[in-house]
Amino acid sequence: MKKEINLQIFDTETRSKEVIAKEIGKTIKMYTCGPTVYDFAHIGNFRTYVFEDLLRRSIKYFGMEIFQVMNLTDVDDKTIKGAIEAGVSLEEYTKKYKEAFFEDLQTLAIETVESYPEATKHIDQMIIMIQTLLKKGIAYQGQDGSIYYSVQHFPSYGRLSHLNLDELKSGASNRVTSDEYDKETLSDFVLWKAYDKTRDGDIFWDSPFGKGRPGWHIECSAMAIKLLGESIDIHVGGVDNIFPHHENEIAQSEACTGKHFAKRWVHSEHLLVDGKKMSKSLGNFYTLKDLLKKGYTGSEIRYLLLSTHYRTQLNFTLKGLDAARTALVRLEDFIHRLRGISSGGKEGSVDILLNKAQVQFDEAIADDLNISIALATVFDLLRDVNRLADEGKVDNAGAKSIIHFLESIDTVLGVLPLHNKELKIPADIEKAFEQRESARKEKNWGKADELRDYIQKAGFMIEDTKTGPRLKKPD
Ligand SMILES: [Zn+2]
Repeated sequence: MKKEINLQIFDTETRSKEVIAKEIGKTIKMYTCGPTVYDFAHIGNFRTYVFEDLLRRSIKYFGMEIFQVMNLTDVDDKTIKGAIEAGVSLEEYTKKYKEAFFEDLQTLAIETVESYPEATKHIDQMIIMIQTLLKKGIAYQGQDGSIYYSVQHFPSYGRLSHLNLDELKSGASNRVTSDEYDKETLSDFVLWKAYDKTRDGDIFWDSPFGKGRPGWHIECSAMAIKLLGESIDIHVGGVDNIFPHHENEIAQSEACTGKHFAKRWVHSEHLLVDGKKMSKSLGNFYTLKDLLKKGYTGSEIRYLLLSTHYRTQLNFTLKGLDAARTALVRLEDFIHRLRGISSGGKEGSVDILLNKAQVQFDEAIADDLNISIALATVFDLLRDVNRLADEGKVDNAGAKSIIHFLESIDTVLGVLPLHNKELKIPADIEKAFEQRESARKEKNWGKADELRDYIQKAGFMIEDTKTGPRLKKPD
């Protein structure tokens, strides 16, 4: 079924949903702007990475191959400042944050992508690009020795961010050496930042245009082209990357190669915490570890980050995390119940429910990753199947096909509690448990109590859940 549906994603540039075309033998080339490794990533960052993971998994789910690159910015204003303040080499300083980043990705069940290039390993490629831009007269050297990109020389500058550039052009003679700048003025941006001993310590690279280091924007252009080629299929990031970062990536790449840089641009919205912009001074700033320390799990955090559509602002609260926990417990109970259906039951209408769920889930994900409907589909199925199971209408084969369906959609969601360590229940305990259920139904309380004692003596307990009693080991 899903193979017949086209995946559609909202493109920032065209401002409409566009089909991610499936072509035989073609691999989708996707570039995602990765972390600047000057500090631990915060949950705002992880909202973007979890969304990118959802997009990646969906592309694969709809039968396409993907080659994804996520860069690590290990040289920029912030990393250099951090290294100098800490009195260590740039490499040593960023190593800790790189390692923490990969650990966090694992905690959030974010799939490992095909390539994680580090900016410091691709300086040569950046220098070559800057040389090309100089040769073409699009870049120039300022009096401070830095190399700048002249935005006047790129007529379609601003096409991604839809900014009214005429209004901004009054400031076009400005030059900005900082990696990040505001959008109040249109400015020439730095490609190569000339070395300054007081500011840079001994962190610099040699180049034909003097000692220095690359600007942040050229890093992504160079690594994207080196690893994915001159034209890529999808470029992804957070909305705060649209301007200037992605605008500048387009200007640099296309002026260099003469080719269209990225076919599709996809951006995820901001994350707020308790309705406010996250900031250290407001005390609402969370790294992943901060939340783990509070006792939340990676799955719970992933569930919350995933459950709001990527183009909607996500208001992150601890209450929201508690709700994510409740949702996951419901799913866990459900999966546990399904696994417990060993035999018997009358033939039910599980197939009809499953077909409906499959179509609904696939259509939801294909429609610009409509996660709300996708998750609602799962919970509708849970409710309907539980009802059937209460009536004894789910047999072992039916339970197995539901598990199989959940496994299949979890290749997209990456969050269903399917892999929790399974409880090994000896056959005699399983049998006693079933007999106790029958005894209770027959209101034979004496026998039911006897069987419960037998189960407890063997080290198991019976827990009542919304979906009926289940066997577990005491915590
Ligand atoms: Zn980037």
